[in-house]
Amino acid sequence: TQACLSAIETSGSLNAFVHNTPEIALEQAKAADARLAAGDASAMCGLPLGIKDLFCTKGVPSQAASGILEGFTPEYESTVTQNLFDAGSVMLGKLNMDEFAMGSSNETSVYGNAVSPWRRGNEDTPLTPGGSSGGSASAVAADLCLAATGTDTGGSIRQPAAFTGIVGIKPTYGRCSRWGVVAFASSLDQAGPMTKTVRDAAMMLEAMCGHDPKDSTSVDLPVPNFEAMLTGDIKGKKIGIPKEYHMDGMPDEIEALWAEGREMLKAAGAEIVDISLPHTKYALPAYYVIAPAEASSNLARYDGVRFGHRASLAAGDGITEMYEKTRAEGFGHEVQRRVMVGTYVLSAGFYDAYYNRARRVRALIKKDFDDAFAAGIDAILTPATPSAAFGLGEMTDEDPVKMYLNDVFTVTVNLAGLPGISVPTGLDHQGLPLGLQLIGRPWEEGDLLNTAYALE
Ligand code: GLN
Repeated sequence: TQACLSAIETSGSLNAFVHNTPEIALEQAKAADARLAAGDASAMCGLPLGIKDLFCTKGVPSQAASGILEGFTPEYESTVTQNLFDAGSVMLGKLNMDEFAMGSSNETSVYGNAVSPWRRGNEDTPLTPGGSSGGSASAVAADLCLAATGTDTGGSIRQPAAFTGIVGIKPTYGRCSRWGVVAFASSLDQAGPMTKTVRDAAMMLEAMCGHDPKDSTSVDLPVPNFEAMLTGDIKGKKIGIPKEYHMDGMPDEIEALWAEGREMLKAAGAEIVDISLPHTKYALPAYYVIAPAEASSNLARYDGVRFGHRASLAAGDGITEMYEKTRAEGFGHEVQRRVMVGTYVLSAGFYDAYYNRARRVRALIKKDFDDAFAAGIDAILTPATPSAAFGLGEMTDEDPVKMYLNDVFTVTVNLAGLPGISVPTGLDHQGLPLGLQLIGRPWEEGDLLNTAYALE
């Protein structure tokens, strides 16, 4: 814990931690020492972690990297962080992210962007650690913490993991409680670990998840010992390769990496099967209707009264002006864009044309996966991202859709509620990390982690 705290102190240029909690960390570390001395064998005991700013942490500022939550200090602890603390883990501080987890580069944060510790060849250009869990990725990759929590609504654990050469798993929807996690799109949001290795991910996921009566979508299923399932034996497993993920214009090296991944799994005894997920091309548009729709509803609570920031008002201003000024000042551009898109697609005249249609598409996407699993496929292998990390500022001033395209391989998994993991599998021609994604059957994170273990 002390080594991490010192590393964090000199890591300002990464802008990964936005709020440090050294007193809490040292106190928790001391308690963990006592537990370990008394023979506590729990895997996460004493491990120093970074916590994404989207998690409410009791008595510690939790702003979801938004100006509108300025000064908000929750009175309660999120279930996931409480579970980690109960297992003896240590919180070093809160991690940078895109505002309300909306983004793929950590550039929408009120704290400014986090920076990746990686560089292209000998260039100095600062690169994005990905997003929205960019601070988590940067901190783990730069050894500021042993692991971090992330959240994933459309790829926010898996894409930053791929960009920084670490492991990130989004569990099945319902595995981790969403209680105390600031909501973005409630039917898609899931928490998960971001770690250096698959084994770490298995240990940390086990500590994070479990049934929680405070989240009605949390599932009441036993939590397996995921680590014990890492045998490396994947003989006879059927790995599906979806033809629709061969996207036009994808760099050759991503195709090559994907081919290498197939060979590795084959060498480990798996059977490689070509499959089709025919509705893949509609996933991104469906996601960018459903996620903003749910966000616009979730973000209605930021009214200048109940949480955080309130704009200063002029004489004669009423409640409407207070809402308008507070929300105009408190929300950044991307969040405002999503609220507007979401409100539009939910409005009386357009609800059927956009929102209901997107929900139907979502059901078809889920059915594609169900069919593949019903045909005996155990896991699906795809690239995690269509490119390596891009430079900060390279994608921001343009059409926002260009940034959205980064999520092309990850959003399908959230729409279908499935577990997905990103595993670092190679470097591109400039020496930047690339990752492959494995998608698993619902509730079979243990098998998924074991397949990822064979790929690592
Ligand atoms: N990049 C996607 C978005 O902007 C996903 C974000 C996330 O998973 N939180 O919506």
